Amino acid sequence: QVTRKFFVGGNWKCNGTKQSIQELCEAFNAGKNIDSSQVEVVVAPPAPYAMLTRSILRQDFGVALQNCWVGKPGAFTGEVAAEMIKDIGLDYVILGHSERRHLPEIKENDDLVARKTKYAIDKGLTVILCVGELLEEREAGRTREVNERQLAAVKARLDPADWSKVVIAYEPVWAIGTGKVATAAQAQEAHAEIRSWLHRQVSETCASQTRILYGGSVTPENCVELATQPDVDGFLVGGASLKPTFLDIVRTHE
Ligand code: PEP
Repeated sequence: QVTRKFFVGGNWKCNGTKQSIQELCEAFNAGKNIDSSQVEVVVAPPAPYAMLTRSILRQDFGVALQNCWVGKPGAFTGEVAAEMIKDIGLDYVILGHSERRHLPEIKENDDLVARKTKYAIDKGLTVILCVGELLEEREAGRTREVNERQLAAVKARLDPADWSKVVIAYEPVWAIGTGKVATAAQAQEAHAEIRSWLHRQVSETCASQTRILYGGSVTPENCVELATQPDVDGFLVGGASLKPTFLDIVRTHE
């Protein structure tokens, strides 16, 4: 039985000011030490605040960006390259978040997410790769198909060894920012399907070692029950990561 290190990500999305981020980091810094052999914690500020966050936040928490460009730096106005994320001392990026996949102003497709994932891994980043179905897809019984389609696009671009640099976040779109959390059973079912896909499509090792996070209206109140599920290896937290009580989610297993 492989033990996968519990992983808690905080996605601050497009929220915050210098002052609010300073205050939040101070609140996080005041929390107890974490046992880094048991849990990995990463927060993702908006890009303009990434260096500030990295410089003031406790060193046992990692810092991620929420997106990056698909290739090398150059004439790509408004974009942030993976090389730059590394250069400022960060090791993670979130890719394929449902807001980037589905907002009509953005509409990233599966292959773009996959190409970004490959490029970011090649530059030394760990990718928090989000997948998940829309409400109408769940209601049509297509959850598994949608997750597998999004993962297959990534598989087509990765070398098998690259999967060790991927943390998957299963985030049903209907649960994100809605207060409608998946039941523990719904999360477990989707996570087990994803793990079985990894086993069949990549390798047994990949299936047993890859962390699969749940995301969608996770709170300090519901995290403990979700974490009892055997294939839930942590969380990607949106709204609740903007509060000092995010630390309670970090300590789910204590
Ligand atoms: C997210 O943005 O990844 C997320 C899960 O948001 P929330 O926790 O607010 O639903």
